[in-house]
Amino acid sequence: PGNQLPFDSSKKTLVVLGSGWGATSLLKTIDTTEYNVFVISPKNFFLFTPLLPSVAAGTVTSRSIIQSTRYITRHKKRVVTVIEADAEEIDPVNKTVTFRDSSEIKGQVSLKTIPFDYLVVAVGAEVQTFGIPGVQEHACFMKELSDAERMQKKFMDCIETAAFPGQSEEEINRLLHFVVVGGGPTGIELSGELHDFLEDDLKSWYPELASKIRITLVEALPSVLPTFSKQLIDYTESTFKESKIDIMTKTMVKEVKDGSVVLQMPDKTMKELPCGLVVWAGGNKGRKVTADLMAKLPEEQKNRRGITVDEYLRMKGTDGTIFALGDCSATSYAPTAQVAAQEGAYLARMLVQIAKKDALEKKLDSLEATIESSADEEEKKKLLEDVSATEKQMAKVKLRPFHYTHQGSLAYIGSEKAIADLPFMNGNFASGGVATYLFWRSAYLSTLFSLRNRTLVASDWLKVKFFGRDFSRE
Ligand code: FAD
Ligand code: NAD
Repeated sequence: PGNQLPFDSSKKTLVVLGSGWGATSLLKTIDTTEYNVFVISPKNFFLFTPLLPSVAAGTVTSRSIIQSTRYITRHKKRVVTVIEADAEEIDPVNKTVTFRDSSEIKGQVSLKTIPFDYLVVAVGAEVQTFGIPGVQEHACFMKELSDAERMQKKFMDCIETAAFPGQSEEEINRLLHFVVVGGGPTGIELSGELHDFLEDDLKSWYPELASKIRITLVEALPSVLPTFSKQLIDYTESTFKESKIDIMTKTMVKEVKDGSVVLQMPDKTMKELPCGLVVWAGGNKGRKVTADLMAKLPEEQKNRRGITVDEYLRMKGTDGTIFALGDCSATSYAPTAQVAAQEGAYLARMLVQIAKKDALEKKLDSLEATIESSADEEEKKKLLEDVSATEKQMAKVKLRPFHYTHQGSLAYIGSEKAIADLPFMNGNFASGGVATYLFWRSAYLSTLFSLRNRTLVASDWLKVKFFGRDFSRE
């Protein structure tokens, strides 16, 4: 920092909403020379979501999986302005964004509107509860860093409460029953991590209670991990069986109460399961700011999954100045970090091309205006030559559509086992033991964004290996 070019009012303003996978990948890749860039996000950091279940189980610490956005933008050619705020309203006609400081401490100004030339909407998604009673009030989520921290505290509270003298057997069994709702990758990874915590640490520290701890995974569909191949689903289910994690498929959570979950069983009967903690990993839905923006373009934006974009990630129904990527958009790709990151990097390169095109268009306009006002034939001839040279340059600026390259899906399933659906090696790869485990870990480590994070996560893993997880409750 310090050597960066300052704000320049002659340059176009690019506003990026969000600091997650899509936005961060864009910020890392983009050449900011031709733009004044503003990043607006309620979190002033990037969160490495794949390791969130590991935070919940205490395998890695919170700080190891986040990276400040200012740290990411510090070496950009032109200074990037980072604003900690929630985007509240996007006006696609007047091209403005209104944002609010929704954090605890507020100054005199906490609401502001700024104009943009280009806008990238990368606000991600929020937890989908389907309006099921009690989910919001009684369940923990696994979406934000605060969710993982909260879950860990509640998890340990259940165990300590079960250890409270005089607790009845029935109450102990309830407190030590953990229910994970949703057999998607989030629910599976979390169950696997909790199982490791139990096996590696809790068995030694709470020997009288550990055997009573139960993990139940509830999934409405006929199988877990519907996007993975059959072989990997079977492998996961049998690993969970060995790990004594109960999988209840074709079972739907209908209500979450303080101390139990109400289930609709495969035969449609209802059953109430007592439990100490419910973790909701039932999927995602669009955010309000996204829905409000879409509602302004009702003709073109009808997809309930999110913003419809064209093959250049331009929001349909706008004049090509608003882009959307990642989980807030509805494309033919899965809502994953991998897709969001590739889209972000693509858009960064596209925006550089767009800046070139805009500059050449500006030059053409000015040349044409000079030609019109010029009386000198010799000068006109020269200007016309300039026009044709500029047009040739413009023709060379190519905007290529987005193309996604799938590198495979990977999930950790506990007991030092991981599953991988890879686009080579005949589609899928399932194995346990040290090799897959190391592969999983190194794959994650190499995708972690900075050397700082890699070092922190590797040292957390080492610490856990030597000293076990820290189970003290803050
Ligand atoms: P996000 O990364 O969610 O970023 C959205 C950003 O927008 C955040 O910075 C947020 O603070 C900000 N924001 C929110 N509201 C506003 C607002 N009003 N205004 C401005 N900014 C706002 N995918 C994989 O491919 N592999 C994995 O292993 C994997 N593991 C996962 C594990 C877990 C536990 C979870 C929850 C998800 C996992 N995913 C994984 C999915 C992946 O995290 C998402 O697909 C990815 O985060 C999408 O990127 P995004 O940029 O669209 O959204
Ligand atoms: P998801 O949408 O993939 O899975 C949610 C599951 O919850 C669904 O299978 C759904 O049937 C179930 N469900 C919903 N309501 C229910 C109810 N009332 N009762 C019982 N079951 C219910 O959500 P996710 O696992 O959070 O994943 C979200 C996205 O993030 C996906 O695109 C996923 O691929 C990605 N992700 C990837 C990884 C990885 O690659 N390792 C890890 C986590 C998330």
